[in-house]
Amino acid sequence: MKFTEFGFDQRLMEGIEASGYEDATPVQEQVIPLVMAGRDLIASAQTGTGKTAAFLLPLINKIITDPHEDHTNNALVIVPTRELAIQIAQHMEGLSYFTSVSSIAVYGGGDGNAFVQEKKALSHGADVVICTPGKMMAHIKMGYVKLNGLKYLILDEADRMLDMGFFDDIMFIINHLPKKRQNLLFSATMPQKIREMARKILHEPAEVNISISKPNERIKQEAFIVYDTQKIPLVKYLLQKHNFKSVLIFCSSKISVKQLTRDLKRAKFLADEIHSDLEQEKREDVLMQFKSRRLPILVATDILSRGIDIDNIDLVINYDVPHDGEDYVHRIGRTARAEADGTAYTFVSQKEQRKFLAIEKLIGNVVPKSPVPEELGETPSYNTTPSRSHSGNRSFKKPGQFRNKPR
Ligand code: AMP
Repeated sequence: MKFTEFGFDQRLMEGIEASGYEDATPVQEQVIPLVMAGRDLIASAQTGTGKTAAFLLPLINKIITDPHEDHTNNALVIVPTRELAIQIAQHMEGLSYFTSVSSIAVYGGGDGNAFVQEKKALSHGADVVICTPGKMMAHIKMGYVKLNGLKYLILDEADRMLDMGFFDDIMFIINHLPKKRQNLLFSATMPQKIREMARKILHEPAEVNISISKPNERIKQEAFIVYDTQKIPLVKYLLQKHNFKSVLIFCSSKISVKQLTRDLKRAKFLADEIHSDLEQEKREDVLMQFKSRRLPILVATDILSRGIDIDNIDLVINYDVPHDGEDYVHRIGRTARAEADGTAYTFVSQKEQRKFLAIEKLIGNVVPKSPVPEELGETPSYNTTPSRSHSGNRSFKKPGQFRNKPR
C-alpha cells in the first residue's frame, strides 16, 4: 500500500518522502486507518515492523488537520527507556520536518539544563511529548505540566514498561489526563497483565496483531556449548576469525559487560560498553559512535535489546542466554535489519542449557550447535533430553525433528 492512499496532509507526505518511505509496512497498513478514524487501539507489534511511524504518522496528521488548543500538551507517548524516547523523538523530527508540529523528549538522567528546557516546553505546551514514566511523573507532581487539552495517549512497549515496574507511574500520569482522549497501546507480547491494563485504559479498542515471535529467516543462528570460563576466549576467537564490521554483544549483567569489555580492550579490540551505571551523556555518546560505525564492537546489557533501531549490525552475540524466547528474538533481531543478512551466536553454558531448549521450542527450530575450537579445551555435552520436571512437556521434539529453517 502506498502512503498516498492514506489521505495525509501534503506537508506530512513531504516528511515521509524525505525519510525514504515508499510502501507502508503491514503494521502501518492496519494501524494508520484505525488511528485516523479516531479508534482506541491495542496492537501487538515488535520493533522492526515500522510500528513507530504507524502511530506517529496519523498522530502528526491529526495535529496538523484537527482543531486543537495551542497552549497545552496535545499528545503523550510513554516509553520504557531513554534510548527509545530519544529514538522516537528523532523519528518524529524527521517525519514532521515540513510541518509546524512541535515535540520534546522528556527522560531521566539529563542535566539541569535539560530539566529547564523540559519544564519550559511542558508548561508552555508541546504538540507531542515523548517521555519515560518516572521523569514525566516527576514533572507532573511539580504542577506546571499543561494537560487540560491532551487528546492522544500512546503507550509503546507496554509489556516492557510493566516488566520494569512502571505500572503505578503510568497510572499516576493517566489519572492526570482528560478522560476524553484517544488511546493507543503497543506491546511486543500480550500477557494477561497487559490485557488487564488495556481494560483499564482503552475504550472499545480495535485489535491489531502483527506479532512475530520467530526470528527473521535471514539471520544465521549458531550456538556454542561452553563452560562459563570459555566465553571470553571464544568471543576473542570469533572476532579474530571473522571480519565482522559491527558487532553487538549482549550480556545479562553489568559485571559481565564490564569484564568482557575490559578484556577485549586489553586484547586491542575497538570495543566499548553501555549499561545503566553510565551517565546518560556517556551512553548517548557510545551509542552514537556505534551507530556511526566508528566503534565496531559494543557490549551491552539488555537495555539495548528492544526498541533500539541500529542498522547494519553484522553480528549479535548472546554472551549469556537471554531470559526467554521473546528476548532472544528481540536481541538477535538487532541484526539482519532492512535487506541485510546477519549472524547471531549464542553462548550456552551448562546451567543455561535448559533455558536455551525452551527458547528453541518457542522459536520452533533447533539452533545448530557449532564446534568450539580445540585450543579452548573440552566443552560440556549438550543434554537435549527433555525432563518432565523442568519442561512439563513430554511432546517436546528432539533436535533432528525440527526443521532447520525458522517457521
Ligand atoms: P520501528 O519498528 O518503528 O522501530 O521501525 C524500524 C525501521 O523501519 C526504522 O528504521 C524506520 O525508519 C523504518 N521504517 C518504518 N516504516 C517504514 C516504511 N514504510 N518503509 C521503509 N522503512 C520504514
